[in-house]
Amino acid sequence: MGKILGIIGGGQLGMMITEAAQKIPEYISKVIVLDPAENCPASQVGAEQIIADYKDRNAIIELAKKSDIITYEIESGDSEVLKSVEGYAEINPSPETLKTIQDKFLQKSFLLQNNLPVAEFIKVDTIFDLEEGLKKFGFPALLKSRRDAYDGRGNFKIDSLEQIQKAFNFFNKKNLMLEKFIAFKMEVSVIAARNTKGEIKTFPLVENIHEDNILRETIAPARVSKKVAHRAEEIAKTTVNVLKGAGIFGIEMFVTKNDQIIINEIAPRVHNSGHHTLQSSEISQFDQHLRAILGLDLGNTAIIYPTIMYNILGPKNFEGEYKPIEITEPNLFLKMYGKKISKPLRKLGHFNLVGKSGETIEQLLIKLETIKGKLNVNPV
Ligand code: ATP
Ligand code: MG
Repeated sequence: MGKILGIIGGGQLGMMITEAAQKIPEYISKVIVLDPAENCPASQVGAEQIIADYKDRNAIIELAKKSDIITYEIESGDSEVLKSVEGYAEINPSPETLKTIQDKFLQKSFLLQNNLPVAEFIKVDTIFDLEEGLKKFGFPALLKSRRDAYDGRGNFKIDSLEQIQKAFNFFNKKNLMLEKFIAFKMEVSVIAARNTKGEIKTFPLVENIHEDNILRETIAPARVSKKVAHRAEEIAKTTVNVLKGAGIFGIEMFVTKNDQIIINEIAPRVHNSGHHTLQSSEISQFDQHLRAILGLDLGNTAIIYPTIMYNILGPKNFEGEYKPIEITEPNLFLKMYGKKISKPLRKLGHFNLVGKSGETIEQLLIKLETIKGKLNVNPV
């Protein structure tokens, strides 16, 4: 008999986890998601939905009572409530790990304690702390909200003394931290998995291109030397090894000019930069996540075809219903998330451009430029 899987969050990540679960009915018979948005992406592909806030105590308890295993697609679930329902369902990654990761200051402190490479940082509670930190790190530096940030929305880059007050006020008394600015030459990430038996596997290092603080493209594999890729993958393995709990972890890193690797942050869940695995690899990050939490042997993570993942984002100047997106191109795999309304920079879908005919990353990048020109999100 298959198990019932509960997911905190039913957006596109929950949707793709649901689809992966439907391929293994012998292990998972049903998926239930907890999400505040009616008709959320996961519910559109057949997940049952509890409509409530991610932090709603009663809803989390209801989900736990109905499920055998619980996992998440977002890190903002209430870790205390999750901890209290561990008796009803197995929770992976563990609420303990979630608690450490969902607070960027605790997360960085944890990484530092485990001798993992991070940018220098301090906790900021007062404007005095901020001034002290800036004296130490110099300009620019990044003021970050410790919790509930995504797509760069919780970051403020401080370039000069004049901006201190504005930056501090921007966050309106939230718990903050200040981080030294890293002049990176590339942003990269590793999708790593650890199963309940302790087996660890990583997908190869990928390269991430951000625009307006939001992920735009992932190039798989990253265009770095074998040595750099190997070092980043080893750092990712060590990171997952010190964290408790099973599942996929998305580990975002910077590569500096002299090829040093610095961890930016960890997501205790499947990650946007792992979407290429849906076509580039034998097994996707979503399949791997399920194998990890079910205690099955982890699958082969090799990239078989070089692939570029491109996010389809809502245009900056438009909010409302949009016409269906159509792109037909050989070896282009489009995945829309079923969101009816476009909002500025909202993630509406993605596509993978796959080098199935032996194309190199350089050739795929040229092809991508012509496709971008034809790709428009238009109002209905
Ligand atoms: P996301 O949801 O996209 O992962 P987030 O809101 O959690 O974002 P971060 O990952 O902390 O925010 O930062 C977003 C981006 O800001 C990073 O991808 C990177 O481009 C830049 N950034 C963050 N920290 C630093 C730093 N210390 N030095 C230089 N750039 C940074
Ligand atoms: Mg990030």
